[in-house]
Amino acid sequence: MKTKSTILIVDDIDTNIDILLELLGEKYDVLVAVDGKTALDIANKEKIDLILLDIMMPEMDGYEVCERLKSSEETHNIPVLFITAKTDEDSIEKAYDIGGSDYITKPFKPRELLARIKTQLQLRKLINNLDFIATHDEMTGIYNRRQFFHLAIKRFKETKKNLYAVMIDIDKFKEVNDKYGHSIGDEVIKIVTKTIADSILKDTIFGRIGGEEFALICNAESKAIVMKNIESMREKIEKLEVKAHNGEIVKFTISEGISKAKVKTKKLDELLKEADIALYEAKGSGRNRVIFR
Ligand code: GH3
Ligand code: MG
Ligand code: MG
Repeated sequence: MKTKSTILIVDDIDTNIDILLELLGEKYDVLVAVDGKTALDIANKEKIDLILLDIMMPEMDGYEVCERLKSSEETHNIPVLFITAKTDEDSIEKAYDIGGSDYITKPFKPRELLARIKTQLQLRKLINNLDFIATHDEMTGIYNRRQFFHLAIKRFKETKKNLYAVMIDIDKFKEVNDKYGHSIGDEVIKIVTKTIADSILKDTIFGRIGGEEFALICNAESKAIVMKNIESMREKIEKLEVKAHNGEIVKFTISEGISKAKVKTKKLDELLKEADIALYEAKGSGRNRVIFR
């Protein structure tokens, strides 16, 4: 696992870059950009934890770089620490106004800069952790209901073509809880989640939307591909076993309802509703099966 944070230095003057490299090179993974455009390219491609940004640069200045970083979903979370020769109050105020996290003037005191960098990185880590908690289900680690809907609506708006929704529900799950206890029920939910997560097609959005209910949104070339994929999940899950506290072997199955977005499907809700009706049919016709609508 990667332990070093990655810092991007953006400055058009070589000697400035050399000083920062000397100061940061050992403790951090450091990337360098000598102009704004390159900085934006790197920030979009690499996982950057902090950007040290010069203001006065030819072509695109630091303010513009910062504004562009802050207006893009991919990069708006990266903290920007301005390092600049500009010391007037207007320049400082502007840096914060456009989304800068901190500001230090050149010539800087090396230990002060290190301390400020450390603070920004700690804050970033904290916010990342909070973000994860807000968007993921604690027990299974997959997307929670809110994040699933957030991403699914986004996907629906981007590509309705060949878009499928799948609703999944564990069969007679209440009986598992009643017979073997809640903790075994939890084990079943976890192993079902893992089995689905290991089976989904590329770029599938997978979330836990209720206690023992899951949903998938995916794009696929054909209905046959999705059907084969979700049928294989069902088959894998019916073969699974969990050992109960009393030594008994617990078996369980899932039902799946699937729907495809049509030209007339105007909202994600309609697509999910269709999948939900299909799921209901799967339940009504005996469970442990897949129904397409
Ligand atoms: P069906 O086949 O119709 O889906 O029947 P079911 O028993 O699975 O459906 P029902 O909705 O009646 O029961 C779902 C149960 O799931 C009830 C609830 O206590 C349990 N449950 C919900 N979340 C959790 C959880 O996180 N852990 C455990 N152990 N049980 C949960
Ligand atoms: Mg159920
Ligand atoms: Mg249910």
